[in-house]
Amino acid sequence: MSTHNPESAKTELLDPGLYIVATPIGNLGDITMRALDVLRRVAVIACEDTRVTGKLLKAYDIKTRMQRYDDHASAEVRERLIELARREPIALVSDAGTPLVSDPGYRLVREAREAEIEVTTLPGACAAISGLTLSGLPNDRFLFAGFLPVKEKARGDVLAELASVSVTLIFYETGPRLERSLRAIAEVWPTREVAVARELTKLHEECRSGTPGELAEHYEAHPPKGEIVLLVGPPGETLSDADPDQLLRDALKTMSASKAAGMVSKSTGIDRQSLYARAVELRGE
Ligand code: SAM
Repeated sequence: MSTHNPESAKTELLDPGLYIVATPIGNLGDITMRALDVLRRVAVIACEDTRVTGKLLKAYDIKTRMQRYDDHASAEVRERLIELARREPIALVSDAGTPLVSDPGYRLVREAREAEIEVTTLPGACAAISGLTLSGLPNDRFLFAGFLPVKEKARGDVLAELASVSVTLIFYETGPRLERSLRAIAEVWPTREVAVARELTKLHEECRSGTPGELAEHYEAHPPKGEIVLLVGPPGETLSDADPDQLLRDALKTMSASKAAGMVSKSTGIDRQSLYARAVELRGE
């Protein structure tokens, strides 16, 4: 990709303030012209990791000074950045995507606003939104739930809390934890449609849909690499080619025949009585 930009000569500094700048989530081309202009024309770029942001700056021939910042930085470092933003323009970026979305910046932005610093935002790539658009799941209402907790009890508590929310759920996930999360989801929502969006905007981008049970089997056999967004469709949203017997089998792993029949009936539209009869048969197999 050519990174030549005739604007690179434009180095006049911007007005003082904090500029929140979204950066690509994998494909270097996914950065806006405004983001490049701002990154060139701020005094300092506050970033999570200077090596990661350094690669982006190098690709676009941007020479702006970087300063490491994350939300674990001391209050002093934050105060210094805020004082600097009173006098000079400062950009905030994260390693990838939109700062503050499961990334550092919340405290800095909050305190900067409290200190009446000018804060502005430059929208751009965000894995949650890219995953949602690719998944084919209903997107009129959705809930971004960050990373699921690693510990079983805490993860169960979060899923129980979300059970009453009838919208598409979006989680961030990592390869080594995906199968466990899918199995936990299969226990509570065996019939809901799930999508795994992986390596978005990169060479090996893929999005695989299925029931949580099917996807857990798949990823047990094919351990996933790379970055992942895990999405769960609202109750009643089931793949049109879903096999009712398989849905019943998955549901029967964690619930009674009657409850399983009710759940599968809701998501497939098949008569509950016949599903109940089939569930009793399957349980006896
Ligand atoms: N702020 C970022 C954003 O706007 O998407 C998210 C940062 S969070 C620390 C990193 C997580 O985002 C990854 O573990 C993964 O769940 C998700 N993610 C980031 N890039 C991704 C990509 N290219 N494909 C799929 N998921 C991605």
